[in-house]
Amino acid sequence: MTTRNIHAGIPFTDDDAAIAAALENLSIPTLMLSMLHMTGDPEIIRGELKPQGLFLNEVQGYMSEEDKAEVRRLALKVICDYRDGGCKLPPPPGPELIQEMMTWLVCAEVPEEYIPMVLEEMELDGIDARQVDFSGLSEKARADFPVVVIGCGQSGLLAGIRLKEAGIPYTIIEKNPDVGGTWYENSYPGCRVDVGNHFYCYSFEPSDHWTEFFARQPELQAYFKEVMERHDIAPQVRWETEVLGTNWNEDSGTWSVNIRSANGKEEVLTARAVISAVGQLNRPKLPDIKGIDSFEGSCFHSAQWDHSVDYKGKRVAMIGAGASGFQIAPTIAPDVAELTIFQRSAQWMFPNPDYHKKVGPGVQWAIQHLPFYGRWYRFLIFWAGCDGGLESARVDPEWPNQHISISENNDFARQMFTDWITEQVAGDTELLAKVIPDYPATGKRTLQDNGSWLKALTRDNVELVRDDISHITAKGVVTADGHLTEVDIIVFATGFETSKFLFPMKVTGRDNTVLSEYWGDSPAAYLGITMPLFPNFFCMYGPGTNLASGGSLIFHSECQIRYITGCIKELIDGGYSSMVPRQEVHDEYYQRTQKELEGMVWSSKAIPHSWYKNSEGKIHVLSPWRLVDYWTWTREPDIAEYVME
Ligand code: NAP
Repeated sequence: MTTRNIHAGIPFTDDDAAIAAALENLSIPTLMLSMLHMTGDPEIIRGELKPQGLFLNEVQGYMSEEDKAEVRRLALKVICDYRDGGCKLPPPPGPELIQEMMTWLVCAEVPEEYIPMVLEEMELDGIDARQVDFSGLSEKARADFPVVVIGCGQSGLLAGIRLKEAGIPYTIIEKNPDVGGTWYENSYPGCRVDVGNHFYCYSFEPSDHWTEFFARQPELQAYFKEVMERHDIAPQVRWETEVLGTNWNEDSGTWSVNIRSANGKEEVLTARAVISAVGQLNRPKLPDIKGIDSFEGSCFHSAQWDHSVDYKGKRVAMIGAGASGFQIAPTIAPDVAELTIFQRSAQWMFPNPDYHKKVGPGVQWAIQHLPFYGRWYRFLIFWAGCDGGLESARVDPEWPNQHISISENNDFARQMFTDWITEQVAGDTELLAKVIPDYPATGKRTLQDNGSWLKALTRDNVELVRDDISHITAKGVVTADGHLTEVDIIVFATGFETSKFLFPMKVTGRDNTVLSEYWGDSPAAYLGITMPLFPNFFCMYGPGTNLASGGSLIFHSECQIRYITGCIKELIDGGYSSMVPRQEVHDEYYQRTQKELEGMVWSSKAIPHSWYKNSEGKIHVLSPWRLVDYWTWTREPDIAEYVME
């Protein structure tokens, strides 16, 4: 018996009217590709009806309303015929046609070098190719290789899933009482993801359930919980337990992992390998403002939102307005008496009218039932955020006025973003002067915006203050001009300790080398994963792996865990006790990464503050690499690059 490809859709018997209603919500170009799967007829995409362009978050491909209506009319017949025929699929399209479909959907050639990565990402064949095959290794050899994973956010959970599939014993240590990491901790009002959810989810998990295109925090946390339950990972997690430190034992080739549970009890676990999955935006950073402890009202960090404090009808100060503050302010503004936002730097924002839009029921139905609809939809979002953004982030050394923009493309983005801001502020020149950033576009994390931020700023009860803060008193916030803003609550939306990787754990490797001292605030790792002197210690979302120009961290995590499980397989298979990257391999990668980063917009000297930069203004958190390169480099480890002992 052959099993049905899970992406081919569940057979259905819905009536014509229900199907017609579902079609109203769909991405029309994506629907047309599903029609091709249902009929096997490539002429569907070879006629006049086609998308005219691709732009981030634009899933309709700029088709006219008439054309969309015509496609819906044709689709209804195709889908009803398919249903009436018992939902049987003709033979799948061959590789050439698949490539034609890709190119057609994104209105640009998908270069040959991308095809294997995209096909794997889409899983059209229903095969999860990112699983490393451990079947050749004996059960005993695997059982003798316990692994400790630190953190149960999206990457730690993924590590657990992959280790379980591989038959490797593992324990996940999580400081919180539940799964989700960032999506557990950040429960502030308005918290939501800003990467399209049909792509911001595991490639091997269904994506038919999202209720919003950019889901809010509770839905994201629930997603990770559900995935955890489906894979039965929870029994291997030690909740409310913190890793204090880990020590490498050369003689036994093991790590001793010191943990402390909620009741204060300390314990030592022994592991052959440690996977750090602690994230980069994990430890809240409070600003170094005088008098911060003297405030008599309630105050808390955005990532530690105090839900026992009722902000309704209160006077609130929000210090800092990056990605978090940008979501908080519009959400709380209608309910507070006054909101004063202290923002040091203005933020560039990207127009996305659909940012808060609900996913229509038709989308959920289509992902469940229409062959490969969900897979092509994933590809559509993936491709728009793939490597194009990286090129736009590259500095053109010949381009003038680098403090304004760094290339022609970048100048175009600046113009587009400026127009978007200007048209919303309509004539309020004072506000306009405060909200147009004075550094190149995309130099910091560009925020998704549907207009709610500027709308909030124009409310009578909201004030945006761009003056420096002098200090905080018992009553409120004092700016450099001596003005005191009296408030009841202060929210610090001031970001995270991003250069202190793995802080505050003490990781002690070979020769008693302590990782935090070895790194300082210039953390580095080969492929963002491995470090010399720290055998069998692997990072997920490690140094140099944050994505500032597109992609999704889940994509990166899937690359990293495949590489890490590949390393574990090599260790077990070869009977090795340890592996570390060769110093020269690590150093060459670091130099290459640094050189690349220096030529990108994020390093612009016009940006004095950004969480991308360390104390010397250098960047160690971001990846300057194309997704296709990172994917290629992490497909499997090359043990020639490692010292295997
Ligand atoms: P952030 O982007 O680092 O923003 C921190 C804010 O606090 C900035 O406005 C910063 O000003 C200000 N600030 C920091 N120290 C200050 C000081 N001493 N005095 C005055 N102002 C100070 O932090 P975040 O907003 O928490 O976001 C961090 C990252 O988390 C984002 O870039 C994103 O990657 C992720 N995130 C994502 C989402 C999402 O997916 N929707 C939501 C939230 C966060 P300057 O700009 O001048 O430094």
